[in-house]
Amino acid sequence: MPNIGAEGLQKLIKKMIEGAGSDPEEAEQVSANLVKANLMGHDSHGVHLVPRYIENVKNKVLQPNAHITVEKDSGAILQMHGNMGYGQIIGAEAMELGIARAAETGVAIVALRHTHHLGRIGAWGEMCAEAGMVSIHYVNVIGHLPLVSPFGGSEARYGTNPYCTAIPSPNGGKPIVLDMATSKIAMGKVKVAYNRGIEVPEGSLIGPNGAPTRDPGVMFREERGAQLSFGDHKGYGLALIAEILSGALVNGGTCLPENQTKNTIQNNMLTIIIDPDSVGSKSFFMQELGEITDYVKSARPAQGVDQVLVPGDPERISIVNRGRDGIPLDNTTWNELIGSAQTVGISEDAAKNLTEIVGSTPD
Ligand code: NAD
Repeated sequence: MPNIGAEGLQKLIKKMIEGAGSDPEEAEQVSANLVKANLMGHDSHGVHLVPRYIENVKNKVLQPNAHITVEKDSGAILQMHGNMGYGQIIGAEAMELGIARAAETGVAIVALRHTHHLGRIGAWGEMCAEAGMVSIHYVNVIGHLPLVSPFGGSEARYGTNPYCTAIPSPNGGKPIVLDMATSKIAMGKVKVAYNRGIEVPEGSLIGPNGAPTRDPGVMFREERGAQLSFGDHKGYGLALIAEILSGALVNGGTCLPENQTKNTIQNNMLTIIIDPDSVGSKSFFMQELGEITDYVKSARPAQGVDQVLVPGDPERISIVNRGRDGIPLDNTTWNELIGSAQTVGISEDAAKNLTEIVGSTPD
């Protein structure tokens, strides 16, 4: 599998997003967010999404150059409508306002509804952590058929509802970012496995008959299977809470049948942003955070493990490696990108000229 250099890949994606109607600034932000997801090791939330995004623009279920509307501004609470704009733009705008409000009031609750796909939710946690804030994010996903089966069920009822908590670093630069799908694996990872023709890990999927399977194809055939939650009933419980908080409380809509048919990817997100200064002593918080992190990481590694990590570390390691070695892109993903580029007037030769193969990864 060829590894593509991040810089060239971003140039291609930027051109594609611009070709689909975004202004250069929006295209820059969207492409940077997607390529960063690949660099962080989350191919599920990287450039393979671009053909789907462009299709959604064409079908008018994703609005280029849209911005948030603040619908309610009452003390610590900000309710916003994303106008089905690019989540990469809407998410950043919402966090910016939320961070400013938390700096004033100590805490901000940002209820964001009706935005197109917010991508990697960790990006929003990292933004808060960079501003010195703790943030908690609950997200649901509607606008298409449900993907994940409730615990004990044998058919899908909701999406891969991500959950994220980000904690700023005591010494700058290395926040703890727990950012995860509540399904055993993210849907994009099922697609990546399908594209690569490989099996998914055990316990990730059930077939249309409810029996466990490792075949990612069950999520792409007419008679569909379902994904399973991580952690059995516990992951299911967290997914349901995310569905209710972001879909019902935020008023974005839950994954009921009437919200499944729009052929888009709509995220709704409840974010709680806390200024550590407003809770107690920030210096105590930072000192204790540094010490507990070091203590946890000092645990003797298990057999076959190099070192104990904290959430956020794997992504930081991946950025270094993929920044140096390039981003592996399987043939299906590349061909889908090229096909999509052509629909916005970029030829295969032009795409190849923008990008550079800098290495390879064994399939
Ligand atoms: P994952 O399983 O790769 O990682 C989950 C978390 O575990 C991360 O915070 C990671 O840092 C941490 N982690 C991994 N290995 C670790 C280790 N050895 N020690 C300590 N911590 C470790 O992530 P995922 O569940 O596949 O999710 C991938 C991405 O998909 C996330 O960015 C998520 O926000 C995104 N997502 C988005 C949507 C959406 O609708 N926008 C839906 C689902 C998922």
